[in-house]
Amino acid sequence: MKKKHWYDYLWVWPLLYFSLGFFNILFAWLGMIDVMLPLFIAIFGGNKWFCNHICGRGQLFAVLPKKLKCSRGVPAPGWMSSMPFRSAFLIFFMLMFGSIVWQTWLVYSGTSSLREAVRLLWTFSVPWSWAYRAHVVPDWAAQFSFGLYSLMLSSTLIGLAVMALYRPRTWCCFCPMGMMTQLICKAKNRGQTPEMSRAG
Ligand code: SF4
Repeated sequence: MKKKHWYDYLWVWPLLYFSLGFFNILFAWLGMIDVMLPLFIAIFGGNKWFCNHICGRGQLFAVLPKKLKCSRGVPAPGWMSSMPFRSAFLIFFMLMFGSIVWQTWLVYSGTSSLREAVRLLWTFSVPWSWAYRAHVVPDWAAQFSFGLYSLMLSSTLIGLAVMALYRPRTWCCFCPMGMMTQLICKAKNRGQTPEMSRAG
C-alpha cells in the first residue's frame, strides 16, 4: 500500500476553510494561501507541485466520490477542457477577483460602505452578517473577506457540480489556478531540457 504523506489529508482544508468562514468571515483571508502558494511554487519552482500534491480542493473532489459515491464518473464534454473555454474562464475569474479588489478599494476610500453578504455564483446575494462583528478590523479588510469567501465558495460549488455530473476532478480541467500555473510553468521551462523542466 502506498505510504501516506501529511499532504494526502489536505482535502480537509477546504472543509475547514468554509466552516471557519461560516462563523467568522475574517478567516476568508486564509484563502490567499490558495491563491499565492500555487503561483509562488510555479514561479520559483517551475512546476505544478501544488496541483499534484497539496491542493486541498482538488483532493476533496477526488475523495468525496470515493467516500460518498457521488460522481457519475463519465467524461465531461470536450469543450470544458478546450483552450478557448479555459482561457475565457480564466479571464472571467480574474475579472471577478479584480472586482473584489475594486470593491475593497471603494470601501477603503469611503466611496462605498461594507456589504455583509456573500455573493453566490456571482448572482445571489446571501446575507452573512452573523459572521462579522462591526469594527473588529477596518471595513475594507472585512469587505475583502466577504468577496474572497464568495469567490472561493462559488468556484467550489461549480467544482462540486461538475464532480457529481462528470468525473471527480473535472473542475481541474478548467480551474483558473491550474491554468495560470500551467502557463507560468510553460513559460519558465521553455528551452530547458526535459530533466530540468520535469513537473513536481
Ligand atoms: S487544477 Fe485547481 S483545483 Fe485542481 S489541483 Fe490544481 S489548483 Fe487544485
